[in-house]
Amino acid sequence: MPKKTTSTGLNRELVEQIKEGFLRHRHYSLAKDEYTATDYDNFLSLAYTVRDMLFDRWIKTQQTYYNKDVKRVYYLSLEFLMGRTLGNALVNLGIEKEAEVAMKELGLDIAVLREEEKDAGLGNGGLGRLAACFLDSMATLGMAGYGYGIRYDYGIFNQKFVNGYQVEEPDDWLKLGYPWEVERCEFQLRVRFYGNVRVERDANGYERYIWEKTQDVLAIPFDVPIPGYKNDVVNTLRLWTSRATNEFDFHDFNAGNYIDAVEEKNLSENISKVLYPNDNSVAGKILRLKQQYLFVAASLWDILRRYKKHHKDFKDFPKKVAIQLNDTHPAIAVAELMRLLVDEEGLVWEEAWKITQQVFGYTNHTLMPEALEKWPVAMMEELLPRHMQIIYKINADFLAEVSRRFPGDVDRLRRMSLIDESGERYVRMAWLATVGSHSINGVAALHTELLKKELFHDFYEMFPERFNNKTNGITPRRWLLKSNPKLSTLITENIGDEWTIDLFKLRGLEKFAEDKAFHKKWQDIKRENKVKLAEIIARETGVQVNVDSMFDVQVKRLHEYKRQLLNALHIIHLYNQLKENPSMNFVPRTFIFGAKAAPGYFMAKMIIKLINNIAKVINSDPVVGDKMKVVFLPNYRVSLAEKIFPASDLSEQISTAGTEASGTGNMKFALNGALTIGTLDGANVEIAEEVGMENIFIFGLKVDEVEALKKQGYHPYHYYETNPNIRKVIDLIASGYFSQGEDPNLFKPIVDNLLYSDPYLCLADFQLYADCQKKVSEAYLDTFAWTKKSILNVARIGKFSSDRTIIEYNKDIWKAEDHILK
Ligand SMILES: *Cc1c(COP(=O)(O)O)cnc(C)c1O
Repeated sequence: MPKKTTSTGLNRELVEQIKEGFLRHRHYSLAKDEYTATDYDNFLSLAYTVRDMLFDRWIKTQQTYYNKDVKRVYYLSLEFLMGRTLGNALVNLGIEKEAEVAMKELGLDIAVLREEEKDAGLGNGGLGRLAACFLDSMATLGMAGYGYGIRYDYGIFNQKFVNGYQVEEPDDWLKLGYPWEVERCEFQLRVRFYGNVRVERDANGYERYIWEKTQDVLAIPFDVPIPGYKNDVVNTLRLWTSRATNEFDFHDFNAGNYIDAVEEKNLSENISKVLYPNDNSVAGKILRLKQQYLFVAASLWDILRRYKKHHKDFKDFPKKVAIQLNDTHPAIAVAELMRLLVDEEGLVWEEAWKITQQVFGYTNHTLMPEALEKWPVAMMEELLPRHMQIIYKINADFLAEVSRRFPGDVDRLRRMSLIDESGERYVRMAWLATVGSHSINGVAALHTELLKKELFHDFYEMFPERFNNKTNGITPRRWLLKSNPKLSTLITENIGDEWTIDLFKLRGLEKFAEDKAFHKKWQDIKRENKVKLAEIIARETGVQVNVDSMFDVQVKRLHEYKRQLLNALHIIHLYNQLKENPSMNFVPRTFIFGAKAAPGYFMAKMIIKLINNIAKVINSDPVVGDKMKVVFLPNYRVSLAEKIFPASDLSEQISTAGTEASGTGNMKFALNGALTIGTLDGANVEIAEEVGMENIFIFGLKVDEVEALKKQGYHPYHYYETNPNIRKVIDLIASGYFSQGEDPNLFKPIVDNLLYSDPYLCLADFQLYADCQKKVSEAYLDTFAWTKKSILNVARIGKFSSDRTIIEYNKDIWKAEDHILK
């Protein structure tokens, strides 16, 4: 790239190039001019201009991978929560400033254009966002990393509140055209479903399995470019959409049922229609299994096609291909690769099995029983008859191995069988993924230890060498550099910019931890970010918040285990205290929530309604005034998250110990200088280790204490009877105080659940939480000490870069080349 840089660091030539591209695209791609162009047209014109720059690098990168025949890493995931691309592409291309100036010189505000972009919300929460962060890191590390997933017509629903209740609206994100994808019709293929399997003997007397009389669907790939950070690498995210085959049912057609024949065609277009909106729980619907198989079959076919361009047999396949399974959602890939190698490519079973195990790695994301996938055998047999046969054979071989290792241990065989035979028969997808992989990992140290001790204990005893930990991370490009430009600039001015690709470099900030002048700048930036978030809060909720109050934030999917309810109970407890003694010393707080509930999750939706009603009551109580405000921002998503983390003072990470596998929101907060109040759960444990116990607020029962309490018999009612704070809070809810003119018993399901079940131990942890929150308030009063802690959090958070995570995956599991373009 020509470098004619001015003293301000601005590349004038690039500015002109962007202006020229913008005007050309507005004219020739959109047929618009300055008079007729909408804001969205202008966004598209800039997006197309940036896309051109990506395409140059994309083609070069892919040519290099091909010429060097590098090892490819394939990340198979049913979810990619990408968010917006324009800002990220500008940052990674290193042309943010130039684009801003170019738009300004054309009379446009780039901030306005950037707000026009819809989020690509092809995921639910942490798992999907992790996949997106990993793509950024693989590209930045110069690895040949590919994402494979589904191009849902409808991503995660848009959330609205109507009278405090969640209402879901379809996310028609493709409606206005998505500028970042390229359709690749030439790579479309047929994916088969149903049918039956016939056995034949070939010339050598071997049994050959023929899967026939199938119902077929077309899979069409759409490619999205994934730029690395300032390294000219552009990788590929390939998303599949399903379409009907061109054939009509000629039987229907000839019988004159033209409409029925077309109708049939329409039905098969539904597979990639919509993302299942469940986080940490399974829907168990056949359409979901079809989605899984569609994208797995298409992706593996594509992977084999690419490999076969260079190789005539499969002996080097594991040297050139690594496939990571993001949870069990793509676990059917184990059976599909066996089918391809044995049935289609003619390998013998044993050789195919060795290759399969060497190629796959499996990442587990949860211990929650309701999130463990199992498919009814009857459903699998009907939809994927050949795969069911293959799974039976894998199971028979595996159980024979278990018998050899543990002779006579029938109970172990029952526990380890890929088929759950305790009632209706199911295929246990986590077992299939485990048996078919050479590596099984959890996503935080504690999580991996629990996996080895509990869920996978039998498997860990059999092959301990396969188990390893890969603590999650986040990309610092999106979650600091792009989303918090002011803090990024301050950091870079003081320690240089290497932190963007080596986050451990943030350690350099430690020497400013007590620097008064630096403190002032740090505080000013946090305040400016809070002012901006306050504007969003006012626009979205109508609530005016006090920007000098502590912004106390819990944003994540709504789930009982994440305990938004515990947070709500504590808010009511503070409210009770204020009502009893309005002149008490009170450290002002703004409680900010953001969370979508799965549409079918009754209790989660009830908790949203409760928090919204608490907000109404507290925000309009004159006794409270400016001391407390509660806001629930609707439609929590990546683009909103990017505005929340930089403005947060306190990060709520309060899941019941042993339930949150890792969390990544916790990392985003700390990276932006928020202090954490949290339990010793997931990656909180490692965050505490890194930042130091004096710079984090840890409370609550630990994993072993949770276990012991449950074992001894947990009686939440006892806490209600013996703790007056808890009693007052629950009595107030039960009295109908927050029902706001609706049924006074509106929140009875919540009250009853707390008193008689409380599966996530809100009451057991309540007082510990309240006491810890009191310490948080006291700490906030000491601005110097708080700022020091904030700086030290950022300085010591380097471990949680997804670059570090990917380097570990690559070193221990994938063993692919990095920095390929260098
Ligand atoms: C990071 C992120 C999550 C995950 O948050 P957790 O607190 O780890 O559950 C979910 N949704 C969005 C939009 C995110 O950016």
